[in-house]
Amino acid sequence: MDNLFIKNKRSLLFSPFLKENVAAGMTYARLDFSFERDNNVLKRLYGELFRELYVNPKRIISLKQTHSDSIFIFKNGASVIDTPEADAIITDSKNTAILIRVADCVPVFIYDKAKKTSALVHSGWRGTQKLIVVKVVKSMNDLFGSCTQDLIALVGPCIRDCCYEVSNDFKDNFKNISKIGNKYFLDLPQEVMMQLSCTGIAKENIFDCGVCSSCSSYGFYSYRRQKTARRNLCFMVMK
Ligand SMILES: [Zn+2]
Repeated sequence: MDNLFIKNKRSLLFSPFLKENVAAGMTYARLDFSFERDNNVLKRLYGELFRELYVNPKRIISLKQTHSDSIFIFKNGASVIDTPEADAIITDSKNTAILIRVADCVPVFIYDKAKKTSALVHSGWRGTQKLIVVKVVKSMNDLFGSCTQDLIALVGPCIRDCCYEVSNDFKDNFKNISKIGNKYFLDLPQEVMMQLSCTGIAKENIFDCGVCSSCSSYGFYSYRRQKTARRNLCFMVMK
């Protein structure tokens, strides 16, 4: 499992993308990227994180996330829009940081090796129920000419069935639920992996980092554990 990521100072970086010259990672709880923070504080934190990747501060795109299945498309050459409302972003623009924020929801990183196009997806249980990753892959096919055989995808740190107790009505909407005693536990990343697999991405190109945001020792913000508004930042930058 360890070969899927490396521990950087501020974030975990995912190896399958580094090989492709794409920085894809998630920050530890030491840095809070909550939208409730002051804009100047966020700008300083972005600077700290992206300076070493030589990202122009004007080329950073974050989303107003609403647990929807809306996808923001950022084509190379377009002007940067301030905080569009969406739960996924796709871009073919290099040296541009695309961002999502999570605390237990599933972050999904997707990269097209042939078309040099990246996507970052926020798939909580609502987004997963709305098949947001399937819609993102379809948009990559339709709008960027992606072929699923060229895609690699990785499920990042998120809450897992070790920690994710849900109410029993979840079993009507999700397949990957286990019952222990009277309690139900949802394996949300497995649900997302199945959806990715259904899009036609080869099994060997779908990776799971295996880290639980709630109980792993790497130290991420966990909404379930801490009832916090604080957020971990997921990012992708194509060099
Ligand atoms: Zn756990």
